[in-house]
This record gives sequence, C-alpha cells and structure tokens, in this order.
Amino acid sequence: MAYTYDDQNVFAKILRGEIPNKTVLETGHTLAFEDIQPQAPVHVLVIPKGAYVDYAHFVTEASDAEIVDFSRTVAEICRLTGVGPGIGGKGFRAITNAGEDGVQEVQHYHLHIIGGRPLGRMLQRS
Ligand code: AMP
Repeated sequence: MAYTYDDQNVFAKILRGEIPNKTVLETGHTLAFEDIQPQAPVHVLVIPKGAYVDYAHFVTEASDAEIVDFSRTVAEICRLTGVGPGIGGKGFRAITNAGEDGVQEVQHYHLHIIGGRPLGRMLQRS
C-alpha cells in the first residue's frame, strides 16, 4: 500500500508555521493544539510532525520513537486538560477519522481528544 501525502493540507501548513494554532503541547515528534471548531469544552487535536496521511500510515511507517512520543503526548494532553479518568477526570473520547467513509477532512493523521461534557453514545444511526 502506497500512501500519497499532500503537503498543502492545513495541518502541514500549521507545522511549517504558515498559519497560526493554539498550541497545548509540543514535543520533538508531536504537536497538540486546540480544534478551531470545538465540539466540547475540551477538543484538542494531536498530530505527528511527520508526513502521515492517517492512522494506518502512521503506525506502519513511523519510527518507534515517533509512535511512543505521540502516545505519551496523548496521555499528557488528557492529564493537562483534566479529562483523564486515571487522574480524576470524568473521561474523554479519542477519535480518528480516515478516508471517505470516515469523513476525514484534513489529510494529515490526527487524533481528536474530546471531553469536558457527557458525550453520549459513540455513533448515531443515520
Ligand atoms: P477530520 O474530519 O477528522 O479530518 O477533522 C478535522 C478537524 O480539523 C476538524 O475538527 C476541524 O475543526 C479542524 N481544523 C481545521 N482547520 C483547523 C485549524 N486551522 N486549526 C485547528 N483545527 C482545525
């Protein structure tokens, strides 16, 4: 499977500093920033700095160091925002959309961390 990465996507532009973002946390391999259209009181996007299109691309081709850094950053975001049940928070949902059926709008892998209110069941029938 060959992935094609379009470096004109909006998160690539954020990573290059071409458009602003509200950074929550930055590490060597990972950036976490506030979603521009938050769906809940906490809505943070966590992205790898590397050029990966979606989850499968990331976990298949990223280095162990990138994957560990990304995963630990997610945990740190849950701690910093107060939603992590392990640190006394009321919980969160981690979502990644991929492809057409997943309605992925931005073609750079990202994990949504959403919380701060009851989120209901995972999917609605449509
Ligand atoms: P997805 O459908 O999973 O690709 O979601 C893309 C997300 O990126 C949406 O929740 C948008 O609100 C968010 N988004 C788009 N542009 C920006 C931006 N410039 N800064 C922060 N979040 C953005």
